[in-house]
Amino acid sequence: MSDCLFCKIAAGEIPSNKVYEDEVCYAFHDIAPQAPTHFLVIPKTHIGSVSEVTADNSGVVAHIFTVIARLSKELGLESYRVVSNIGEQAGQSVFHLHFHVLSGRDMTWPPG
Ligand code: 5GP
Ligand code: ZN
Repeated sequence: MSDCLFCKIAAGEIPSNKVYEDEVCYAFHDIAPQAPTHFLVIPKTHIGSVSEVTADNSGVVAHIFTVIARLSKELGLESYRVVSNIGEQAGQSVFHLHFHVLSGRDMTWPPG
């Protein structure tokens, strides 16, 4: 999507602090970290949010979770939280599917 911030970040058109990249997904540090470790994992193809995941594109999501599992081990994260906000009321501000990976501090439940 030509006017999508995260499509531009995934394409390298807007700079970001890369954590990991392959042909399917891109991981980068959040610009406003909410924990000592806070990075985002996004598909390179445009999907608006979890609400747009279908049988046809769910392989991308499965792949992203294998990447999160591997990266968290490589980074030595013993405990972490994976979050995806869907819709404005839930706190979504960028309408390209992304999974927040947060770690390194105590977290509360339920989330605010
Ligand atoms: P959401 O609010 O949609 O769940 O998450 C969007 C996240 O993207 C926020 O945590 C925000 O800090 C991050 N973000 C927004 N713009 C940029 C940017 O230009 N670069 C990076 N690295 N992160 C961004
Ligand atoms: Zn996009």
